[in-house]
Amino acid sequence: MASRRLLCLVALCTIGNALLAPTVHRCSLTNCRAKSGGFGATTNKAPSKKTKAKAFTKKQAQLEADRIEKAPARCPCHPGLEYQKCCAPCHAKTTTAATPEALLRSRYAAFSLELPSYLAATTHPLHDDFDKDTVAWVQRLAKGLDASYFEGLRVLAQESLGENEHEITFEADVRPKDSPEGAGVTLHERSRFMREDGVWFYREGLDVSSKKR
Ligand SMILES: [Zn+2]
Repeated sequence: MASRRLLCLVALCTIGNALLAPTVHRCSLTNCRAKSGGFGATTNKAPSKKTKAKAFTKKQAQLEADRIEKAPARCPCHPGLEYQKCCAPCHAKTTTAATPEALLRSRYAAFSLELPSYLAATTHPLHDDFDKDTVAWVQRLAKGLDASYFEGLRVLAQESLGENEHEITFEADVRPKDSPEGAGVTLHERSRFMREDGVWFYREGLDVSSKKR
């Protein structure tokens, strides 16, 4: 359901992400010694790219776990369903989506709850947005997700294209947080899903359009 259109929309309103802010280093005795070069200190090297990526992944995992735990009682994908019994198990990675519709719903809910790691993990490697550098991809996704309200999802039609391929047509109501009240849009998309080794992935968005509401 992460149509490129939808991704573009949420990316429009980029708000500074605290996760990407420079780390504040407290002045420890070791640091001070290293800076002064005294006490036979080793060189005070800047953290490597790998170290930074590891730190981001750990921090992001904790952030998303907190969001799952503190999510509203009602699932963002359907007001009649309890989140903890609906999309939470997928988000917490205790299970995978049993059907393409469950995957669509869980991805919509992940947009709403700002869970970029889940969106990346459920995107098929053949999707145009797929990036092997998961850390960089999740960082990009995280920047735009807090820019919109996700106000409703409606599954309009679906069709099996075989055991491992499926299409769903849906509408999603989205409203940028900085837009005047009521100035939301309805996104319309036909999504294709593919199953690999028993796991469903979002493959691509087809017939993507949007209209003001
Ligand atoms: Zn749900």
